Amino acid sequence: MTVGELDREICAGPWVGPGGEPGAVAPPVFQTSLFTKPTFGEFVRQQAAEHENFVYSRGTNPTVAFLERQLALLERGEAAKCFGSGMGAIGAVLGGLLRSGDHVLFVNNVYGPTLELARHLERFGVEHTVVTDPHADLEEHLRDNTALVYVESPGTMLMRVVDLRALTALARGRGIRTAIDNTWATPLFQKPLELGVDLVIHSLTKYVGGHSDVTGGAVIGSAELLREVFYRGHQLFGAVMSAMEASLVLRGLRTLPVRMERHQANALRVVEHLQRQDAVAAVHHPYADPGPGDALVRSQLTGFSGLLSLELGGGTFATVERFVDALRVFRIGVSWGGYESLVSSPVRADNADRLRADGLSTGLVRLSVGLEGADAQLDDLDRALALL
Ligand code: PLP
Repeated sequence: MTVGELDREICAGPWVGPGGEPGAVAPPVFQTSLFTKPTFGEFVRQQAAEHENFVYSRGTNPTVAFLERQLALLERGEAAKCFGSGMGAIGAVLGGLLRSGDHVLFVNNVYGPTLELARHLERFGVEHTVVTDPHADLEEHLRDNTALVYVESPGTMLMRVVDLRALTALARGRGIRTAIDNTWATPLFQKPLELGVDLVIHSLTKYVGGHSDVTGGAVIGSAELLREVFYRGHQLFGAVMSAMEASLVLRGLRTLPVRMERHQANALRVVEHLQRQDAVAAVHHPYADPGPGDALVRSQLTGFSGLLSLELGGGTFATVERFVDALRVFRIGVSWGGYESLVSSPVRADNADRLRADGLSTGLVRLSVGLEGADAQLDDLDRALALL
């Protein structure tokens, strides 16, 4: 996709909401906790449908609602709800939609805290199974009480891709809902609702916000499902996105296509370069997979983001530490998707068995390829690799 094509995807045109100054190009920040009504009758009417009326900012707020409309349009959904973080969105889906006795099937290397939340939900009678192999036969893991299949694709540790059409066909045939964490691909590079997924989840903290200055999350899907997410998952758990945060995410959204084009260009150069290095045993990124999975990748993704991982040969904690400490452009820290390149690793001095059990290399290092020049990024990686 070219920037021009991507640009047309962004619908963040002039503000058209209530109370905006005509002609304002940026949406106003409605920094208010509540909205008064002219009559009691109007108050009662609006409060009865709080998901579509501005009553209280723990429910809806015009600045946040503007962002929700943009995200729904981009993901081809009928409705969206924003949250104060990606985990807020994930918590709203799992905590809001599931009930005691339900079973959830998690597919691929799902984000750690999501699985931690699933373990926490066991005490409320919600069971779960984790299938880390993206190509596993899922049918044998479904149960009579499976209520949700939750997938991350591409994953965000090994970036492996799951066949979403096959997964949704299987789940739909059994009347099971599906949800995807689409954070890696952003709403630009993958449209899971068009592939049959019921709910799309994003951590807006990453590429959509794009500047490492805000945390946010979103859930997108049908109006009916989003009403459920709103009343049970958002209103009751209260992981609210503020108007100020929504305005920062809206600003990020406007430059998303331009930024993603650069993240992609830099990441592809980094992938190709790392694949040529003797000290690197493997590179994980959908673009790095020229094998049988490639047709699947191309059929689901229209572009590539900048999060990838590599395996340092003969990986030990000491090797990983030496490599990470030598980097300068890639700074050490959690999260990803902002301007700055980042490096992190799940490897610790004492967790080799745990990593192997999770199918992860003991030399695994994750890079978020930022927007600095690719030449500087490659030099940085070369210098650190040369020390190994
Ligand atoms: N999903 C993925 C894939 C993530 O990497 C993260 C955070 O790192 C989250 C969800 C959670 O998002 P947040 O940190 O905004 O709560």
